[in-house]
Amino acid sequence: MAHKVTLIPGDGTGPELIAAAKRVIDATGVNIDWEIQDAGVDIMEKCGTPLPEAVLESVRRNRVALKGPITTPIGTGFRSVNVALRHALDLYACIRPCKSYPGARSRFSNIDLVVVRENSEDLYAGVEFDLGTPEARQIIDMSQGKIKYDSAISIKPISFEASKKIARYAFDYAVKNGRKKVTAVAKANIMKYTDGLFYRAAQEVAREYEGQIEYEEWLVDAMCMQLIQQPENFDVLVMENLYGDILSDLCAGLVGGLGVAPGANIGDEAAVFEATHGSAPKYKGLNKVNPTAVILSGMLMLRHLGEFQAADKLEQAVSAVIEEGKDVTYDLKPNRNDPTAVGTAQMADAIIRKMNA
Ligand code: NAD
Repeated sequence: MAHKVTLIPGDGTGPELIAAAKRVIDATGVNIDWEIQDAGVDIMEKCGTPLPEAVLESVRRNRVALKGPITTPIGTGFRSVNVALRHALDLYACIRPCKSYPGARSRFSNIDLVVVRENSEDLYAGVEFDLGTPEARQIIDMSQGKIKYDSAISIKPISFEASKKIARYAFDYAVKNGRKKVTAVAKANIMKYTDGLFYRAAQEVAREYEGQIEYEEWLVDAMCMQLIQQPENFDVLVMENLYGDILSDLCAGLVGGLGVAPGANIGDEAAVFEATHGSAPKYKGLNKVNPTAVILSGMLMLRHLGEFQAADKLEQAVSAVIEEGKDVTYDLKPNRNDPTAVGTAQMADAIIRKMNA
């Protein structure tokens, strides 16, 4: 029976990346019935919103989606369409594997890390008060001189429940994927209550996995240095929303950049697979950017659907094309101006040829 999957092309370079990824996924032979749903800046005029309710309904119905990047529009009431979608579907866990593929341009090799990012709260909760508002003034008064009178304020809520849930996700992920260690990353020496609570929640979960999965804690600043100096020491990293956002880009940089960094947003009711990168609007329609991150997001989706053989075949083909270094986009060439770099669609063609070889 066919898997029903919602396909959201997105905007900017999204549609050309999703077209390439769809062709590659279809070429694995897995039977997918794609339901195409438009979201993003290109449909705002027609629908009056970048995130029509029909898109959410489709993902709720099919429970699985592959999504292209979506630009954050200015002045629509949306802080970010991507964040709104994660909130609406309660996709509380963001998983970003960062793995070295030989041939990808990077200073490092043999990296195999997974960032597990809490997706629902922290400074992304959208509780912000602008300079001069009554709410900002009220908080400034409560701070008894700790906050300057001309401040805008963002609130960082960290709940025990969400922290435990993401920690449990990280440990379960470690068990299911044969991983050895979970590292919780925060800044609890400074944010004693919020980040302290995050560590306590993670410790509580870690006790249940004692003897099975190792657990350790690092402060986020020290972690940045450790990741640059000894990335091989880490396995699964679990973090609050903002640290996870920043460190997943850092980890993407360790393995060759945003062009090769896939991702998944997982909830109890639905899962949306998307690259770590954004819509790269300056390259829109140029058939230039790297489809690997979206294609590997499709590989994660195939695993989620239980199609392990097809996922392995796809990953091996991507890896072989990158290692060969011939039919790859500009960002995977040693010199970015290399005239032999191929386009988005041509790299997808090369991956399909490898799978069929
Ligand atoms: P971006 O990731 O779109 O692009 C930054 C740079 O990274 C690009 O200029 C390009 O040099 C490189 N890059 C990105 N994707 C690439 C690829 N596939 N191949 C090769 N190089 C690639 O980040 P940005 O410019 O900060 O954001 C653009 C828009 O995307 C913003 O509106 C932002 O809010 C949005 N965004 C969306 C998502 C999402 O849909 N989940 C994620 C991040 C940013």
